[in-house]
Amino acid sequence: MQTEYCSCPGCSGNLVFRIKEGRLFCDHCGSGYDVAEYDRRVLRADKPDAETPEDDYTACPSCGGEISPGVLGATETCPFCGNALILSGKIRRQAEPDFIIPFALDRPDFTENFRKSLADLGSVPDEIIRGVRPENMQARYIPFWLYDVRAEGRAAFKNPRREDRRWTFLAESAAELEFTDVTQDATTELDDGLSHNLEPYDLNSARPFSYSWLSGLDARIYNMDDRQSYQTVRDRVIASLNRKLIPYDSCSIISRNINIRPRSVS
Ligand SMILES: [Zn+2]
Ligand SMILES: [Zn+2]
Repeated sequence: MQTEYCSCPGCSGNLVFRIKEGRLFCDHCGSGYDVAEYDRRVLRADKPDAETPEDDYTACPSCGGEISPGVLGATETCPFCGNALILSGKIRRQAEPDFIIPFALDRPDFTENFRKSLADLGSVPDEIIRGVRPENMQARYIPFWLYDVRAEGRAAFKNPRREDRRWTFLAESAAELEFTDVTQDATTELDDGLSHNLEPYDLNSARPFSYSWLSGLDARIYNMDDRQSYQTVRDRVIASLNRKLIPYDSCSIISRNINIRPRSVS
């Protein structure tokens, strides 16, 4: 399995991504590189073709030590030489990501913001706030699917009037909705309730994917393909369409016809 690490063009030391600066830095000579600049300088012509047979054996390209990454890990630190490794073969075996939203805050900054927002709630005990420490924070890249979905439907319903149940009216409605960039996590490792609470994701900050973004950080591959994750997206789209078609809590539905089509996925 193909494994690589970002090597410094100046001294061949290991480059790792520093969130605060948003750049790659060499742990040996201290040189810094923007990801795009580094990718331009280091030609990656050695991509194996997709037909390469599966091979779970992984060796550190720097020291040759054998490493045994977890099933969903996309990055690893070599236990022998300490280099930040990227399990690119494992990522390529799936659909390679189209883009990535790089971390905006490093651990100390994130911790400070988090403590502030807890303090602002006014009800969180100091003891808990003090327990929020950078060393307890973990930064991890999680794979997501992104869908564009078109939904249309018609409904006929009877709405019983609450104040006088003898009267009802018949109504017909039609709706067409376009959903763009619906995010859905692609892993069973993250609870859907949690990942939905984090929405909306800052897609304006998305950058074209490159392995360099992952260097020195924890990243995971997906274990739900685009069809599996789509089931949740479809349910949410149906719920939105239903709210649009029948904006009443209590009414009896006479007929309903809906049509949901995914238009694209990335
Ligand atoms: Zn260097
Ligand atoms: Zn090594």
